[in-house]
Amino acid sequence: MTQAIGYATHSADAPLAPFHFERRALREGDVAIDILYCGVCHSDMHTARNEWHNSRYPVLPGHEIVGRVAAVDPAVMRFKVGDMVAVGCMVDSCLECRECRAGYEQHCLEGATLTYNSKDRQTGEVTLGGYSDHIVVREEFVLRVPEGLDPMRAAPLLCAGITTWSPLTRYNIGPGSRVAVAGLGGLGHMGVKFAAALGAHVTMITTSPEKGADARRLGAHEVLISTDREAMKTARSSFDFILDTIPVAHDLHPYLQLLKREGNLVIVGAIEPLPPIHGGMLIGGDRSVAGSAIGGIPLTQQMLDFCAAHDVLPDCEEIPIQQINEAYERMLKSDVKYRFVINMGSLKQESAAAWRGLP
Ligand code: NAP
Ligand code: ZN
Repeated sequence: MTQAIGYATHSADAPLAPFHFERRALREGDVAIDILYCGVCHSDMHTARNEWHNSRYPVLPGHEIVGRVAAVDPAVMRFKVGDMVAVGCMVDSCLECRECRAGYEQHCLEGATLTYNSKDRQTGEVTLGGYSDHIVVREEFVLRVPEGLDPMRAAPLLCAGITTWSPLTRYNIGPGSRVAVAGLGGLGHMGVKFAAALGAHVTMITTSPEKGADARRLGAHEVLISTDREAMKTARSSFDFILDTIPVAHDLHPYLQLLKREGNLVIVGAIEPLPPIHGGMLIGGDRSVAGSAIGGIPLTQQMLDFCAAHDVLPDCEEIPIQQINEAYERMLKSDVKYRFVINMGSLKQESAAAWRGLP
């Protein structure tokens, strides 16, 4: 066991605060990672606040992790001490079922072990995430950070990146595709960057008119304000694909009518009951609604390599861990530009305070 420190919360309405705990000793095939940076995903806040009604406290969030290998078990083949590596939303799965063998570990038939708020497959203990100084992960769930990729800006790729890359590539988005991305936050801004990098014509659908200039700078060719009824009417039947990153339940009808014949709307944001959809909205126009969950390990590595090769990186606002509660409040107000990334060096202040016996 090793002593660890992080930021956790003990209930849905308590702020995150310093938390001391133990990480497991290395098991066969384990890699210990000193965390340098961790991105802040809206899912972290959903879980900290029990908005999905499945939180197991203490909740220690964080699944956009970049760090350096600090130690490896002798059985580890692909990593050595000092390597720059990353961990995303999963830390384990059965690795034997049909889905795992196909590289879709997130759909493991036994259930993937998520980086936080999930049960360790061996001990049943609840996993604790990346808002911490180090983490221990089995080799198969550790990713290589390609040479030259800025480690701070690489962090959000581990969730916001793969969650948008996966559906865009699954639906063969490329030159000639007319794509819209709804919601300009962490996921949405990566959706825009990736869709543009893949050669699509990209429209940003936002509730925040003031984000229009940023959307264009990120790669959007057009901006559509979802509260502008006239503009939404004019945009009817114009997209092949809509990536919907809106983090809460919402009426899909205004978005569905924007789809061309055989268009697809993929939900990645709202992981909760949605208002009913009128069947006519799908039948008329041969439209589809689908979902998409993060992405498997091979695809995540492919996405990291693409980002390094094409210089596609998130726009980040670096914060010390002490500002995490304020960052959550800003996220609630859609005031994120466009991903907070915690510099984990700031945790050293907490260790020093603990050493001096301070709270
Ligand atoms: P985020 O940074 O908070 O961005 C969400 C954006 O959605 C906001 O900036 C805002 O953009 C828009 N929005 C917010 N409330 C809205 C509302 N009521 N109606 C319409 N638009 C609204 O969140 P994120 O980190 O990108 O995460 C987005 C969602 O994806 C979260 O629910 C998260 O849990 C989920 N998620 C899913 C997966 C998956 O595997 N499927 C993976 C990661 C995250 P505008 O200001 O532009 O309107
Ligand atoms: Zn996430």
